[in-house]
Amino acid sequence: VVAVLVILDGASEPTDRRSASAHPTSLELARTPVLDGLVAQGSLMRLRTVPPGLPAGSETAIPALLGWTPRAPVDRGAIEAAAYEVAIAAGHRAWRVDVLDRHGERARELDAMRAARELDARTPHHEVRHLAEHRLLVTGSPPLPASALVDGLHPWPEGSVPPRILDSQTTLVAARGAAAGVARLMGASVLIPNGATGRPDTDLACKAVVAIGAIARGTGRVIVHIGGPDEAAHARNAAQKVAVLERVDRELLAPIARAVRAAGGTLRVCPDHGCDPRTGAHDASPVPCLIWPAGQGAAGARLTERAVAELPVMDVGAGASDLVAA
Ligand SMILES: [Zn+2]
Repeated sequence: VVAVLVILDGASEPTDRRSASAHPTSLELARTPVLDGLVAQGSLMRLRTVPPGLPAGSETAIPALLGWTPRAPVDRGAIEAAAYEVAIAAGHRAWRVDVLDRHGERARELDAMRAARELDARTPHHEVRHLAEHRLLVTGSPPLPASALVDGLHPWPEGSVPPRILDSQTTLVAARGAAAGVARLMGASVLIPNGATGRPDTDLACKAVVAIGAIARGTGRVIVHIGGPDEAAHARNAAQKVAVLERVDRELLAPIARAVRAAGGTLRVCPDHGCDPRTGAHDASPVPCLIWPAGQGAAGARLTERAVAELPVMDVGAGASDLVAA
């Protein structure tokens, strides 16, 4: 019986429960009739995906959702290298380096490509790749060369690497990015559909077709990662974040729910962490999580932060396999 998990990257947002005039969140604003119908036949829980003290981000939360709870910051460089299938020689490391402009905002892609060429020229013993957008990857022997520490370049800290605890019974469908890297390091099979960009413009229908193919082949766990909500929130584009959630409902959740129902499986839907479109910053608050189908159903409720605010917080680490693998 297949267990499907759809991860809505950065979809949730911080809420101030005491304030009656609190901003509606994107999950509250988005019209999601399919998701609402699933909640009516499912149950909601409040899930802590980011262990206390660790940075709120996909490199922390996605390993936890896949069954390994990090105890220390996770190595973003190793994840990006795995995502882009860059082999790391024995004794070498990979570092993710972000290119930011003088306001601390993500640099434009052309500027990041130029920064990659300049850094590569200054680091003869290391390789520098432009991955996408503002993201670079430096590989070679430690330590990271000092020339990668100049103004505008922001290396991620080294950290722990997710262990290989999964096998091909887990398949992840995603764009080339953190989720793909995490899944590959953990030993899952990774499918990157044509047209999957990780951005709000991604081809969701194509992602659904690939996920349904994995369900049809009898894969035990199928995880679908959607990067668009997080990217829209980083760009502080609140309307785009709502729009991508509405498109996910129509183009991805509808066909996947039909396939899960036909297979007699279970479907879970949750953000990995929050990302506030007012600030562009990640949020570590526990996230709302749908499990479908479930006994009595949560009539009238929706998958929102406030709908689960009074529920006890469940730690994803306390029983990740129960939560995501049925
Ligand atoms: Zn993010």
